[in-house]
Amino acid sequence: MLFINGSWMPAQSGHTFSSTDPATGEVLGVVADAGRADAVRALEAAQAAFGEWSRKTGHERSAVLYRAWELMLERQEELAKLMSREQGKPLRMARTEVRYAADFLLWFAEEAKRVYGETIPSARADQRFLVMRQPVGVASAITPWNYPISMLTRKIAPALAAGCTIVVKPAEQTPLCAIETIRVLDDAGVPSGVVNLVPSSDPVEVGDELVTNEVVRKVSFTGSTEVGRIIASRAAHGMKRVSMELGGHAPFIVFDDADPVRAAKGAAALKSLNSGQACICENRVFVHRSIAREFTEVLVERMGRMKSGHGLSDGVSIGPLIDLAAIDKMQRHVDDAVAKGAICAVGGKRLKGEEYDDGYFWAPTVLTGVGPDMLIYREETFGPIVPVIEFDDADDVVAMANDTTYGLAAYVYTQNLGRALRTAEALDFGMIGINDINPTSAAVPFGGVKQSGLGREGAREGLLEYLDTKVCGISMEAV
Ligand code: ADP
Repeated sequence: MLFINGSWMPAQSGHTFSSTDPATGEVLGVVADAGRADAVRALEAAQAAFGEWSRKTGHERSAVLYRAWELMLERQEELAKLMSREQGKPLRMARTEVRYAADFLLWFAEEAKRVYGETIPSARADQRFLVMRQPVGVASAITPWNYPISMLTRKIAPALAAGCTIVVKPAEQTPLCAIETIRVLDDAGVPSGVVNLVPSSDPVEVGDELVTNEVVRKVSFTGSTEVGRIIASRAAHGMKRVSMELGGHAPFIVFDDADPVRAAKGAAALKSLNSGQACICENRVFVHRSIAREFTEVLVERMGRMKSGHGLSDGVSIGPLIDLAAIDKMQRHVDDAVAKGAICAVGGKRLKGEEYDDGYFWAPTVLTGVGPDMLIYREETFGPIVPVIEFDDADDVVAMANDTTYGLAAYVYTQNLGRALRTAEALDFGMIGINDINPTSAAVPFGGVKQSGLGREGAREGLLEYLDTKVCGISMEAV
C-alpha cells in the first residue's frame, strides 16, 4: 500500500509488485506500485501539511518522535525478523539495525528542541542582527535496500524535527520494511500528510517526480554514485538543497606496529557487515609486509569459518546477496583479479547445494596479491570479498589509499597515536576508524567527500540539512 495524507491506499493505476526473500525466492508480500500521479498526490499532501506542522513548537514535534522511538523499540523483534527475510541480513544484525534506526528517532526528538538561532553584533550602534533557522519546506527521500529501516529514519527524523514534511520512495527490493517503518510513525501520531510513502517498481519515474516537482525544496538520497549523479543534476535545475550519501571504497590500513590478529579480526567483522553490502565496508586492505603473513592467516581463517545461510537460521553470519547482478559482480571481480595474478586464499565462488540453490549466496572470500590494475581495486564490490595488498613504505600508503574517486570511510590500525592522527588527517575520507571498525552513531555526522557524497546525516549537522538560515537586521532607532 501507498501511504498518502494519512491513509493507506492502492496506486492510481491499480498496479502492484512483489517483494521476495533473496535467500529463497519466496514472495513475501505484494505492494501497491506507485507511478508519477501518486508521487504528485503525495507531494501535494506534504505541501498541504507543511504549514501546520512547521508552526508546531519543537517540543510538540519532539513528543511525536519520542513516541515513535518507543514504538520502534517495542516492535524491534518483528521488524528485525521482517528485515532478515526481505533484505537477507542475519537476525542479530537486523536487530542492531532496528536499534540504530530507533536511535535516529530519539536523537532528533532531542534535537527538535534545539533549533537555535544566533544574534550577531552590528557595526551600527542602532542595529541588531538576528539569525533564525527555519524548515526548508517539503523534502523528498530516496532510500536504498541495504539498510531498509535505518536509512528511512535517518532522513525522516531530522526532517520532522526541523518542521519539514516528507515523501519517501524506498528501494524496490525492500518495500515491506519501509511500510512497517511508516506504520510506526503513523501509530506514534504523526499528523496526516507529514510523512508519505510511495513504493514503486519503477524508480526512474517516481524518483524523477520527487526530485523535480517544484514543491520539493530538499532532496535526500542514499544509493549508488551513478544514480546520485543523475539526481543531483536533476535537482540542480530547481536549485534544490541536496544530501547525497553515495558509494565508498574504504581503505583499511594496517601499519607494522599494529596487532595483526586484532586488525584481522576487525577486517573480517567489517566485511561481514550486511554480507559486505555496506558502503563503509573495506574494499582495499593495505597491510605492512612485515606482518602480512600473520594478518592474512587470521583473516582467511575467520572468513573461511563464517557460516552462510538464511538470516533467520541459527549461527549464520553471512546472508544472501540481494540479487543475481550482485553475484555476477563478485564473479567478475574475482575472475579479473585472479587473471591478473591475485590468489584466492579462501572462497571465490557462488555457494551451491540445497540450502543455497534458490538464493544468492557468495562464499566469504579473501584475495591476496591484489594490485591497482584490478577492477576490485577501483570498483565498489558490495559483497563478502576482502582484497589484500601488501605495502613496504608507510609514506606511500596514504597516497595509495587516497587513490580513489570515493571518500566515505577509511580505517587505520596502529599503536602509535601520532601516526594514527597524522594518517587520519591526511586521508581524504569523511569517516575514519582508528583501531575501530564502527565510526558511526546517530550522534556523529555520517557522510563522505569526493564522489561519496554531499552533506551529512545524523548529529547536529543532520538537522541543519533541513533548515534554511534567515537573517533579520533590526533598527532600534526611536520612531
Ligand atoms: P543500489 O545499486 O545500491 O541498488 P541505487 O542507486 O540503484 O543503489 O538505488 C538506490 C535508490 O535509488 C533506490 O531507492 C532506487 O530505487 C533509486 N533509484 C534508482 N535509479 C533511480 C533513478 N534513475 N532516479 C531516481 N531514483 C533511482
